[in-house]
Amino acid sequence: MSTGLKVPYHRPSIGTEEIDEVVRTLQSGWLTTGPRTAQFEREFAEYVQAPHAQAVNSCTAGLHLALAALNVGPGAEVITTPLTFCATVNVILHVGATPVLADIGPDGNIDPISVESRITERTKAIMPVHMAGLPCDMNAIWALAKRHGLSVVEDSAHAAGSRYHGFPIGAGNPGTGDRSDASVFSFYATKNLTTGEGGMVTTHDAALADSLKVLCLHGISKNAWNRYADRGHWYYEVIASGFKYNLSDIQSAIGIHQLKKLEQFIHVRTRYASLYNQILEEVEEFEVPATNPDCRNAWHLYMLRLNLEKLAISRDEFIEELRKKGIGTSVHFIPIPLHPFFAPYASLPENECPRAIALYSRLISLPLYPAMTETEVEFVAESVRDIAHRARRSKPVFLPAAGD
Ligand SMILES: *Cc1c(COP(=O)(O)O)cnc(C)c1O
Repeated sequence: MSTGLKVPYHRPSIGTEEIDEVVRTLQSGWLTTGPRTAQFEREFAEYVQAPHAQAVNSCTAGLHLALAALNVGPGAEVITTPLTFCATVNVILHVGATPVLADIGPDGNIDPISVESRITERTKAIMPVHMAGLPCDMNAIWALAKRHGLSVVEDSAHAAGSRYHGFPIGAGNPGTGDRSDASVFSFYATKNLTTGEGGMVTTHDAALADSLKVLCLHGISKNAWNRYADRGHWYYEVIASGFKYNLSDIQSAIGIHQLKKLEQFIHVRTRYASLYNQILEEVEEFEVPATNPDCRNAWHLYMLRLNLEKLAISRDEFIEELRKKGIGTSVHFIPIPLHPFFAPYASLPENECPRAIALYSRLISLPLYPAMTETEVEFVAESVRDIAHRARRSKPVFLPAAGD
């Protein structure tokens, strides 16, 4: 597929290893969930230092599965961030629970102080999102969860390869034993590790891992399979109203080799992010992405912030200027309250998120992926800088605050 752009927003990094493994899988006769998915689960669990991993056909499916397996349902409230993909909120509605939005902090991640202010007697779970691969303040979130008896399901769609205080997202804090109930990763086409479509739920809870496995495949119990093996291979029992969320071996064939390359991918992403920072952090029209010295950012996204009061053009016009130069960009994300379907409940005073709405108007995600060349990164950075220089406002204006 060609976008006609000089630097498209994304190009995947698929090598001969992935292609050959897919061909071998097709020739093996085993196409659906089988030995390659089992291997992918084992190796991914080891990578994130979690004892259990359940492969799923998307992160969205994995988030839904995790909430269902934790018995989050009607009457429950689940607190999440307004600066996320719609999937995070849709799955809360899928289980019949009520999404509650907490505002973001200065780093763009969910703010634990705002989370605390949203906790009621109905709150059952918190769903933090590690935006762009920068880990959330998990110590604060785990402390809140412990104090209020809440489940934590991490939307780790951006965080394959991120590390929090020295440990991979998914590992929790092995020192204190603090950890989330589940961490859910995405292998969508543009993510750090891709299987085209796919995802993984990791957990440290063996009973939860069992529930995830049962619910992932129609509610069919493997235990019954073993118990009644004497009845024949055909026998099974359905013990729950499950879903059809399993990952195929064709996709796992890609994942096995993507996982082997993930550290190298993150290395290149980090180098390119530093290159962007070097060129852009001195430009007063910009604010470069937040960092945290205690964490490793997996750099899924490079979310540049425009200082709009110093620019004569809007973010949308800025994106158009980049497009004219042949550069593809994106925006992560259109805040949940701005979508028509979510607007009615998001407009309730208890869901107000002025910081997320204000940040949104300043955000541009620049292309950042291992298949870029250094020359392309420099071309993008210099183009961005040139547009800012030409659009510089002679006299700064004071923009009205969000909501005025
Ligand atoms: C991509 C993404 C998802 C959904 O991932 P899928 O694998 O496409 O279902 C969920 N949350 C966030 C924050 C994402 O970026």
